[in-house]
Amino acid sequence: MHGNVLQLIPAVVFGLVIGSFLNVLIYRLPRGSSVVTGRSKCPACGHTIFWHDNIPVLSYVILRGRCRYCRAAIPVRYPMVELVTGAAAGALGWFLGVTVEALWAFVFFSILLVITLIDWSHRIIPDSLSLGGTVIGWIGAVVRPDITLVDSLLGAVLGGGLLFAVAMGYRALRKIEGMGGGDIKLMAMIGAFLGWKMVFPVLILASLAGAVYGIYLMRRGASARTAVPFGSFLAPSAAFVYVFGAPLWGGYLHFVMGPA
Ligand SMILES: [Zn+2]
Repeated sequence: MHGNVLQLIPAVVFGLVIGSFLNVLIYRLPRGSSVVTGRSKCPACGHTIFWHDNIPVLSYVILRGRCRYCRAAIPVRYPMVELVTGAAAGALGWFLGVTVEALWAFVFFSILLVITLIDWSHRIIPDSLSLGGTVIGWIGAVVRPDITLVDSLLGAVLGGGLLFAVAMGYRALRKIEGMGGGDIKLMAMIGAFLGWKMVFPVLILASLAGAVYGIYLMRRGASARTAVPFGSFLAPSAAFVYVFGAPLWGGYLHFVMGPA
């Protein structure tokens, strides 16, 4: 069941526009400023950015990555977030069509992208995203055809519970905070969207990727206590598992446990 180009173009445009809004969230949420009011301003010179300089991707290219007024460099993150979000919307529209499942997958993807970048730069995961996302995940389980509410509720409990147990164990053993409450709430959200069975592959993948990054940091001279922003690994792992996990992990479970 694939879409056609007439569906693809509006989906990509929709994704580009939402990507532009995600940039606002990524900038404003960790700074505690309102995400709905206030015009966009250049962070360097404070000049209001007008709509014609705020067109996704295109404005960045036309302005050659610099503010029109003060010539300060615009981080390449802005057009990248827009491009990735546009591509995600296009892919979901193409493969799932205009469906409830596609809409929820897009919301899930958007929240994960914002969390990845905020945690990476600020080492925090806003509750509005993780806890709000958990509730959205549960609501989705009621209307989505691909997951049950029980799966989703169990997923949140298992995801949050497992990381909570790891955090407690880590604190008892090492006497330091190894994992923040933000990671626990994020994993609850991921479980709510993906269901309890997908909690394990997400944790395994994120732990492997985080460990590889930790080793890379240590080889470059960082201390073993340097905190890796685990949420920045959990969130992309969840997106990966959503796309590729069902056939891989489902096949594994089938192999281990036999036909259900
Ligand atoms: Zn400026």
